[in-house]
Amino acid sequence: MPDAVFALPDSIDLAIIGAGPHALTLVTHLLQKKKSMRRRFLVFDPSGTWMRQWNHQFAALEIPHLRSPAVHQPDPAPHALRTFAERRPNELFAPYDLPGTNLFQDFCQEVIRRWQLQTCVYPAQVVQIQPFSDRRSRFCLELSDGQTMVARRVVIANGGGRPHFPGWVDQISQNYPEDRLLHSHQVDLRGSHLRGERVLIIGGGLTSGHLAVGAIQRGAEVMLMSRRSVYEKLFDADPGWLGPNTSKISGQNPIGLLAGR
Ligand SMILES: Cc1cc2nc3c(=O)[nH]c(=O)nc-3n(C[C@H](O)[C@H](O)[C@H](O)COP(=O)(O)OP(=O)(O)OC[C@H]3O[C@@H](n4cnc5c(N)ncnc54)[C@H](O)[C@@H]3O)c2cc1C
Repeated sequence: MPDAVFALPDSIDLAIIGAGPHALTLVTHLLQKKKSMRRRFLVFDPSGTWMRQWNHQFAALEIPHLRSPAVHQPDPAPHALRTFAERRPNELFAPYDLPGTNLFQDFCQEVIRRWQLQTCVYPAQVVQIQPFSDRRSRFCLELSDGQTMVARRVVIANGGGRPHFPGWVDQISQNYPEDRLLHSHQVDLRGSHLRGERVLIIGGGLTSGHLAVGAIQRGAEVMLMSRRSVYEKLFDADPGWLGPNTSKISGQNPIGLLAGR
């Protein structure tokens, strides 16, 4: 359910497309620097709520904890997540206090509540952006519900966009059952019946690892295929990018492809 349904203004200063962690981080930092922005921005997401895509991917892949340390979080106070976790120390995982999935989700809800952001996500997809010609240079956003609105600035925080399939997938000439060749984004372990199945997972990153563990736990025989040998890595990004003074957040989305039976 959307967090709120409200009338769309004709124009807005800032339109943010997507209500994931990047948008949330942007909004809290913006409000910290300029309180007057409060009524001057709107966030658009088909779900009408914050963090839907993030929460879905962690649930669908049954990921117990984040791969990024506790300083990677959406509040401007660098230690806000650590402070939030003081009464839940068992939900910070070694070796670098990786937040548990539930802890991080609860923390994000607390950030949304504390910054009073519950009602700023409008439930629609932005389907088109065009230059809007008047005296000022602005944009006209067309929404999936047929409405339009004008924005002075637009931030696109729509996540990874479309799943990226390797080129050879298009070259498969024979028809095959579509549910047997999936991108990791399309997999939901929770509804998968895999006992006795043979599953090939292509990709050597963490997503492939999560999928392999989930499939094995369900009784599947799993083969992992990757271009390089699988290795252990403490961080997604070079540690120089990590820490409270870091203004950039980095993440990798390894390609995982699941081919069944
Ligand atoms: C399995 C997995 C595990 C991960 N683990 C971690 C981790 O531990 N730590 C970490 O930092 N990162 C992790 N990542 C990466 C992380 O998910 C992404 O970096 C992060 O979600 C990107 O945030 P975002 O706000 O840009 O996008 P998203 O969280 O993907 O949100 C984008 C939102 O935009 C909306 N949207 C898209 N198009 C439109 C449109 N046209 N109009 C309106 N709304 C639109 C979508 O509905 C979605 O809700 C992981 C990724 C995966 C796949």
